[in-house]
Order: sequence, then C-alpha cells, then structure tokens
Amino acid sequence: MPTSTFDYLNEELERLRKEGMYRLPTVWTSASGPWMETGGRKLLQLSSNNYLGFTGHPDIQAAAIEAINRYGAGSGSVRTITGTLDIHDELERELADFKGTEAALVFQSGFTTNQGALSSLLGPDELVISDELNHASIIDGIRLTKAARAIYPHKDMDRLEQLLKENGGRKRTFIVTDGVFSMDGDIAPLPAIVELAEAYGAYVYVDDAHASGVLGRNGKGSTDHFNLHGRVHVQVGTLSKAVGVVGGYVAGADVLKRFLVHKGRPFLFSTSHPPAVAAACLAAIRLLRKSQPLIDRLWDNATFFRTRLQEEGFDTGGSETPIIPVLIGQPDQTADFSRQLMEEGIYAQGIVYPTVAMDKGRVRCIVTAAHTKDDLSFAVEKIVAVGKRTGVLKG
Ligand SMILES: *Cc1c(COP(=O)(O)O)cnc(C)c1O
Repeated sequence: MPTSTFDYLNEELERLRKEGMYRLPTVWTSASGPWMETGGRKLLQLSSNNYLGFTGHPDIQAAAIEAINRYGAGSGSVRTITGTLDIHDELERELADFKGTEAALVFQSGFTTNQGALSSLLGPDELVISDELNHASIIDGIRLTKAARAIYPHKDMDRLEQLLKENGGRKRTFIVTDGVFSMDGDIAPLPAIVELAEAYGAYVYVDDAHASGVLGRNGKGSTDHFNLHGRVHVQVGTLSKAVGVVGGYVAGADVLKRFLVHKGRPFLFSTSHPPAVAAACLAAIRLLRKSQPLIDRLWDNATFFRTRLQEEGFDTGGSETPIIPVLIGQPDQTADFSRQLMEEGIYAQGIVYPTVAMDKGRVRCIVTAAHTKDDLSFAVEKIVAVGKRTGVLKG
C-alpha cells in the first residue's frame, strides 16, 4: 500500500506562494492599539477592527475581571443547559434596548451568528438573494441551507428588483446584505433595499458587523443611520469589532429570538461565552451609549485620512467609512506593497484574490478613533513613499 502523505497540501501552498497569496499570521507582543510591537519593532497599524479603542478600555477590562472573580473562567455549558448566566441574559436585554428591537440573541461570534441564523431561517421554501460582496460567513450560512439562491452584482438595485420579480416560486424571499462592506468600506443602499423588499413582500437581513459602534446614533448601526426602524427584519451585529470583545447577535422580533433559541445550531451545540466576555460586552454596550464624541472622532479621522490619500493620487475605491482600501492591483504587487510598508514601520494588510477580484488587490486601511492626526499623517507619508517607489503612484 502506498503511504498517505500531505504532498498535495504542500503543492497547493506552493501555488499560493507563487501567486503572492501565501501568508502566515504576524505574531504581536503588545495589546491592540494604533502602535503595536512585533519582532521587537513598534509599528503603526492600520488593520485592526478596534474602531473605538474599546479592547483596552479600563471600564470594560474591570467588568471582565470582576466577572471572572465572581463566576470563574468558563460558563461550563451551552446556553440551553446551565450556560445562561444572568450576565448573558442582561447583555441581550441591553442589546435589544440599544438597538430599539423587541429582542436580541447573542452567539459566540459574528461568524456563527450568520451561520446559525441563516441556516435556520432558510429552507426549501425560501429564496435568498445576496449581494456579491457579502461576507464569507453569509456565504457559508447560505451554503448550509436548501434555499434557492441568487446573487446580485454589488449594490445593483435593478438586478435585485429583477430577481425579486422572477422569484422562482418560493414562499418567502430574504434579501441579505452587509451593512458596511468589509473590503471596500462602502455602505449598502438600505433604503432602496427596504423599499424593494416592501414592494415585493420580501424580508430584509442586514449584517452590521462593521457598522456596529460605527454607523448610526451611538453606533446603533445602518438601520438607525437610515432611520429604517421597524422595516429591517433581521439585524446582525458583532461584539468583536468596535465593541472590542468577541461575539455576535441577532436583533429583531421576540418571535425571531425564540425561534433561533430552538433552531440556531451554534447556540444549541456550542458553549456560551465565558463570563468575562459577557460582562465585558455588557460594559462596552453601556459605554457605547455615551460614546458619540469618540464616534465623531473616528469619522473625522476617516475623512482626514481618505482625503489625504486621494489628494496624493491614490484610488480608495468606494470607501465612505473608516475602512479605506488603497487599490494596488495583482496579488504579488499588493503583497510587495504591504511588505515595503512594513519596512517603513506601517502595518496595513494586503487583501488579495480570492477575497477580492484578481486585479483589485488592495492594502486595506482601517482608521480608528485612537489614531492621532500625527499617526495618520505619518502613515500617508510612508504610503506615498512606497507608492512612488513601486510605481503605483505615477510621476
Ligand atoms: C467580521 C465580520 C463577521 C464576523 O464577525 P466575528 O465576530 O469576527 O466572527 C461577520 N460579518 C461581517 C460582514 C464581518 O465583517
């Protein structure tokens, strides 16, 4: 018998390497923040989702420590057995109140929220229509179902309407979209989506991972930003990005929550958040309600940084949020740009095919409220230097 080897895995990795797509995680030796240490060097990073600097906020850390002291390190069970502590319940009530919905249900992450919610809401009776640039967790959630599926070109409302018209004879249709698109930093045309949904009797499902704590009053998300309260059926949010901890949630009708409590597989079959996580999230949501000045600063930083890059001649795509891609090109060019930035003391992650189209490789910059204007000016200076050296900037 021939021996089984992993040569075929190595061949695939070699292929990735040749195409500039092979990359192992950078190991950091300091806390998340604008300046972080790796390999004994301090770098200015523009890649975290720590929009408001909440990961290191003293009130949030104190809440986590207090919860560990009171309840221990782990929850000991899934939510439906002995894994729902009062702090888990309180967090969900706080989230529902914050979002202005009847109820909210927390999952272990944003990723499992989409998996759990989409896989239980969609079945053979449903058609799901999804934006082509939706997040991987939406794509995977949809893959778990027997629903009919259709994809519309990014934000193309004419095509969405056509798909709604064609319908395919299913009983119900769900339109699923990111609220803020994670690779381009543009905002979904939610008012138009809601109007089409209402005209054709469809449901609207929005994943506000990058809008939570960023968009809307006090970071309530895209539904609040567009004043569409009561017209979006399923609002997904994360507790992992601006909220600074980890987790995801569905906010919506009470019946939706009770349905997911019975059907959401990650909720049913995976252990609940450790007490420290639940308590830290609760403290963070409470803090968010007082954080409008910080959110204003985040947006001010984003506008400053994007404007400066555009003035220098860079293409920032459709960015209109703190996610600001600098378009470079092919995967190897993009990886090289990112590597040269690192030599200059800037960490900005290259995003390449298959996450984005082959020729749309970009260095994705994410500005936070914790960056100073000096930090951002320093970053622009270095990005310009690398841009000139690599020929990305002409002249
Ligand atoms: C980051 C992200 C997720 C995953 O959230 P986690 O809490 O990190 O698992 C889901 N959806 C979108 C749109 C995201 O950007």
